[in-house]
Amino acid sequence: MVSVIDLPSYSLDECSWLSSEHDAYEENDYRIALLRELADEVYLNRGRRYSTGDLHELADKLEACNEEIIACKSLACKKCNRKFKIERVNDIVSAMKLEQEHGLEFEYGIYTILQYSRSVSAYAFIDYDVPKDKDRIRKILSRCGVIGPVVGSFELDFHEKPQRWLTHYHLLIRQTGNEDAISELKSRVQKLHPINIKKNRCARPFMEQKLSDAHEQLSYIHKLTSFEVRDYKTLFGKKRTHKHRLNKLMFCESLCWLDGLDRRTLPFQWHARAWLKQSKV
Ligand SMILES: [Zn+2]
Repeated sequence: MVSVIDLPSYSLDECSWLSSEHDAYEENDYRIALLRELADEVYLNRGRRYSTGDLHELADKLEACNEEIIACKSLACKKCNRKFKIERVNDIVSAMKLEQEHGLEFEYGIYTILQYSRSVSAYAFIDYDVPKDKDRIRKILSRCGVIGPVVGSFELDFHEKPQRWLTHYHLLIRQTGNEDAISELKSRVQKLHPINIKKNRCARPFMEQKLSDAHEQLSYIHKLTSFEVRDYKTLFGKKRTHKHRLNKLMFCESLCWLDGLDRRTLPFQWHARAWLKQSKV
């Protein structure tokens, strides 16, 4: 017997664990203060991509959004990203619910594709062509025969040890009907990214997870922000990683970079438009 996931009957914004709008306001406040603080340092450091004016301009934009003068819709804005995430996750859950209401017992999985061969050096992430990268992934999905729907996002995390950014995707893929395509995808990704960016670490470029808590997992895959990943060892000697805030300058540069991107740059989808749309009708 097929076991389909138990989907929540309430929306993501009703989850008590979700960071509140006030938290987003406070995070924006932190970003505004930091951008203004770093603006002077950038002025003295002429090699930088973003100017003092860019940092101040972004700080002003986030401030106007916090004061509700405008909805800035910037990818650098925690408030606007939170709103986007809630809408997106609710749409995805509704689309899956609709299938269940029609008696379709589809199973879904969460997949992470780590692109070790496409890692980026410390301040070079600004030049990374995300739309082109997404096109490459779409081509791979197509060649593997994935029929969709696939939804998720592109993400960049900075790894402290090799001082490199690791480009990756978090994707929700319908497993039912895509079983062979997903194993083909796994072997292709393993061939494309055989070597970890960290020394003496096994490459695990393709990770699969069962979809068990739709709200939590879908919320995680739509973070739309970058972190610094640091390694540590547990008391029992196990290797683990922890996510930290980026260093101040890198954080400000990543905010300016995000601000310059179109809102649709980070979210990813493949053969999912009609699927997402039907739940809105
Ligand atoms: Zn905003």
